[in-house]
Amino acid sequence: MSELTSLTIAEAREKLRAKEITAIELTEAYISAIDAANDRLNAYVKTTPDLARVMARKSDERIAAGKAGELEGIPLGIKDLFATVGVHTQACSHILDGFQPRYESTVTQNLWDDGAVMLGKLNMDEFAMGSSNETSYYGPVINPWRAGGSNQQLVPGGSSGGSAAAVAAHLCAGATATDTGGSIRQPAAFTGTVGIKPTYGRCSRWGTVAFASSLDQAGPIARDVRDAAILLKSMASVDAKDTTSVDLPVPEYEAVLGQSLKGMKIGIPNEYRVDGMPEEIETLWRQGIAWLKDAGAEIVDISLPHTKYALPAYYIVAPAEASSNLARYDGVRYGLRVDGKDIVDMYEKTRAAGFGQEVKRRIMIGTYVLSAGYYDAYYIRAQKVRTLIKRDFELAFDAGVDAILTPATPSSAFGVADENLAADPVKMYLNDIFTVTVNMAGLPGIAVPAGLDHRGLPLGLQLIGKAFDEETLFKTAYVIEQAAGKFTPAKWW
Ligand code: GLN
Repeated sequence: MSELTSLTIAEAREKLRAKEITAIELTEAYISAIDAANDRLNAYVKTTPDLARVMARKSDERIAAGKAGELEGIPLGIKDLFATVGVHTQACSHILDGFQPRYESTVTQNLWDDGAVMLGKLNMDEFAMGSSNETSYYGPVINPWRAGGSNQQLVPGGSSGGSAAAVAAHLCAGATATDTGGSIRQPAAFTGTVGIKPTYGRCSRWGTVAFASSLDQAGPIARDVRDAAILLKSMASVDAKDTTSVDLPVPEYEAVLGQSLKGMKIGIPNEYRVDGMPEEIETLWRQGIAWLKDAGAEIVDISLPHTKYALPAYYIVAPAEASSNLARYDGVRYGLRVDGKDIVDMYEKTRAAGFGQEVKRRIMIGTYVLSAGYYDAYYIRAQKVRTLIKRDFELAFDAGVDAILTPATPSSAFGVADENLAADPVKMYLNDIFTVTVNMAGLPGIAVPAGLDHRGLPLGLQLIGKAFDEETLFKTAYVIEQAAGKFTPAKWW
């Protein structure tokens, strides 16, 4: 790992402004790092070195002219779900083969407007459906972390597995990601990186390929809490093109780092203890509680009684919305087309060939729960459960809790092609047991690395906050990071 790629965004920003390094040098260092590593890690599905060089040179010109933006010259990786003009945007699905949008997503446009440089598009689970990055049409991403003394290939989590692996392996300074049920926080936890899913409405969803529109939210994966704060500040905005984006000022998230936790109340939900959860996750949670207490926070036990219904309700709401959103991929407008004897035959052949197994499963579940006769029994019921989950959180916050601390995932990273998981999709779905509640309630959640398990693999803690109170999450996560330290994998790739 060259020195330049080991700089955090905050460090690189300083050196660029002080003219100790140039944006083109930094960009070239990342391009070389990606070239050397991507065959092994498969984090990028498309690299854009020529575009990166053009952007970096422009950044150097702006720096020289004293016109540097907040992210001037910072090389980033972009999840394949974000529309980028003229560049591979396929949600890692075969059905979007060859699709290059003519428009830019609002989130990526915000980053470029602040001077960031695009290195390429990152691997992900197909249409963001998955928890291991193994549903990608482009093959699995390999986690840069390995268990001590083992060569076994591990998954980086999903669906933003390429984003998390690229950040952990220093193949970009930071990455965009999205989270519908845990896809920012779970991969962050599996790779020792920081990921924040902001409040629903904090970032515009415009130009982000839709999975489940009432749950989808963009956010960053970064090497540390400060970098995540810097990235979210740039990504977030109100947007006339997404009516669910919210017109609230975007705070200076960085400004809260280092503030005291005195007077804060942290809630510990009893329901986030699940059967079969390894003892070391429980230990990590207790350690997190101790750190926050030491920092002056008051710890209170809380109850979120509908937690156990969140996962089943999510697996009704998310596939229902997905089945509707994915109806547009029919071989007519974009991507793959498989010819048939008439138009209906063409639709069927295209969708049969273009979607992977997991996506097909979701479309079928979604179509079923929305069909006449089942709509009330499943979909309407799941929506009611969703309201109850939201209310659980509201009651806790109304009682004076400022943030909630939970484990981020029920385990550390597991193996690629794990037999145990392949046989039963529900086991894979259980990865999101601690994260889906947050999407169902529309709240912000951050995953921050807090330690290593007995095999030397990273484990994360999650903090859940009030709507639009990302500042409290950054401030509290920073305290955990200061206590736990940062975690970088030993290089083998
Ligand atoms: N793993 C969850 C799923 O497969 C969440 C995915 C996501 O957040 N995009 O639906």
